[in-house]
Amino acid sequence: MSETDPLLAAVEALTKPQKRRQEQDIISRYVTTDDDGIETVTEHVVGTQKVTVELPPLLDMLDDAIQSSMGGSTKGAALASESAVLNVHALYEAMKISSAVRDWCRMAGVLDRKHTRENLEAWNASVYVRDLDEEHAAFFAAVMQKWAASIRTMLDPWREKDLPNPCPVCHAEEWWDASEDKPGEPRRRLPPMEGIRRGRPRPLLIRYKRDDPEMIEKGHAICRACGAEFGLRELQFELEQAEATTRQEGMTTV
Ligand SMILES: [Zn+2]
Repeated sequence: MSETDPLLAAVEALTKPQKRRQEQDIISRYVTTDDDGIETVTEHVVGTQKVTVELPPLLDMLDDAIQSSMGGSTKGAALASESAVLNVHALYEAMKISSAVRDWCRMAGVLDRKHTRENLEAWNASVYVRDLDEEHAAFFAAVMQKWAASIRTMLDPWREKDLPNPCPVCHAEEWWDASEDKPGEPRRRLPPMEGIRRGRPRPLLIRYKRDDPEMIEKGHAICRACGAEFGLRELQFELEQAEATTRQEGMTTV
């Protein structure tokens, strides 16, 4: 039904858990122990794979974002870190959607529930919706499609991607996660040695929002080896400089 019914499809886009295909690194990891009993963990990215992740329904994420933005409970800690706190404009937009759904319920003679998703599901199951003519159904579907797009924009979490380049500041090609050094356990790191990789590859990490028109301006990057931070344009410039230098050096040694 949802394939042919645009109204139901629009409702489900807001009320059903979202499936998203994501790219994930395949990491090969092995531990070696030397004569002194010191462990070395080596990780290599050996490829990428597509995985399907399931996210909560958009309207649940909306309610959660409104709640945490208003300083209420942040019960879903994992969610809170994903959805972040809305700015004033986004919070206003979010509350408009939530109260519009409540208005729809009133119009359809449906009891107001606590959650926006439950309200929309109840509205969708009402006699009022069942009896909608095509023109009105198309109107509601279009409004809901707009909501879905605007909720996605306001909740779009930061995305992360690591870069293959060495850091233009410290020139590191690997980094350590200090939280992996546990007190009382064998040290997991050794000083870097010429030509031997002991840490994790790709210290440069960029953070950005995929659907943000100001992605380049707002995105930023960090080197996990030295902690240097960059704007995305700045990093691109630095990397190009570094590449040009390497090329020049290569030419003079030839
Ligand atoms: Zn660095």
